[in-house]
Amino acid sequence: MKVLVINCGSSSLKFQLIDSVSEEVIAKGLCERIGIDGSQLVYTPQGGDKIKTQAPMPDHTEAVRMVLDALVNPKTGVIKDLSEIDAVGHRIVHGGEKFTASTLINEDVIKAIEECSDLAPLHNPANLIGIRSCQKLMPGVPMVAVFDTAFHQTMPEEAYLYGLPYSYYEKYKIRRYGFHGTSHAFVSKHAAEYLGKKYEDLKIIVCHLGNGASVSAVKNGKCVDTSMGLTPLEGLIMGTRSGDLDPAILDFIGKKEHKNLDEIMTVLNKESGVYGLSNNLSSDFRDLEDGYVDHNPNAVRAMNAFCYRVAKIVGGYVAAMNGVDAICFTAGIGENSGFVRSLICEHFGYLGVTIDEEANKKRGEDMTISTPDSKVKVLVIPTNEELAIARDTVALVTK
Ligand code: ADP
Repeated sequence: MKVLVINCGSSSLKFQLIDSVSEEVIAKGLCERIGIDGSQLVYTPQGGDKIKTQAPMPDHTEAVRMVLDALVNPKTGVIKDLSEIDAVGHRIVHGGEKFTASTLINEDVIKAIEECSDLAPLHNPANLIGIRSCQKLMPGVPMVAVFDTAFHQTMPEEAYLYGLPYSYYEKYKIRRYGFHGTSHAFVSKHAAEYLGKKYEDLKIIVCHLGNGASVSAVKNGKCVDTSMGLTPLEGLIMGTRSGDLDPAILDFIGKKEHKNLDEIMTVLNKESGVYGLSNNLSSDFRDLEDGYVDHNPNAVRAMNAFCYRVAKIVGGYVAAMNGVDAICFTAGIGENSGFVRSLICEHFGYLGVTIDEEANKKRGEDMTISTPDSKVKVLVIPTNEELAIARDTVALVTK
């Protein structure tokens, strides 16, 4: 089967066409600046060069139309006819408490995703536009919704409730949901396969460290805790997001800096994290690594705070699961930066973790970076959210 995987943002659309048998990416790309001047499609067929096409994309339907045109283009396309696309998998950010797994899209599902929109006002409406656009341009092709939050729905109440009046949970469903669920599920399952052990027998901690970053605790094949919350702002110190804070800081900053809540939220989302902590040096860990090596105090401060926070949350999850068999690193930083992995693992002496520094120099492949006598395995498992979405899509449409 050929599955088109679509990830719609408010002004962007990422896609991959995946052959579900070989699991190869037949083509992939990105539409940027949808609804804004200067929109363009960047399209890469398998084994070919990037092709950039500038054209107006007033809305997502036009963006999907351009993607489909590129896929069937007689010269650079990868399929002859749109009928070769057997199914579409959509990444949906927030599934609230309604969705505990991926699901075939029908009108009821669309309505339920709409109802979750106040929990993710920037993301869910864009995701829905993607679904509607595909319905219009590819009528009759089965579609599946894969939720960022679904994997975390197995968390117990004590892990997902905040210390707030319970009525807020009852009335508004304010609770921890967690994100990056597709990645946490993919990596934890794959780690079990890689170790040759049963998923149901393991205690695994996944550190998904990218621009957005989160940690999850997976016990016996089920997520029992994760660091992101009602929104993706909670938890780790991220590229530009603050992560955990004393909530009273919002009031304090508001008074000192004469900012309203919207302005403070912008600071917490866009001007904080390692970017803010490094005095705006960079949110990119390649720059911070270079700065750290040069003893730049801004880089050292940001890097140390980032790694300490990861280690602290991992420690909490060891307690939550009463032990851990494997700690996995994934996503842009987790897969590529042996430097960051090493700094984080320095905090794990109490777990009997020892790192093989030679193995830790490699990047971007499944690998064990702990020594054979390390009490806990430390792994690098590259994530592949698109493949996970394609697999779920095939499983549901062939059921
Ligand atoms: P997202 O999907 O959340 O945008 P990614 O998973 O793509 O994020 O990760 C982006 C992050 O990965 C950036 O902070 C970038 O600096 C970091 N990164 C990518 N390559 C490297 C590398 N070789 N060394 C250190 N960090 C890297």
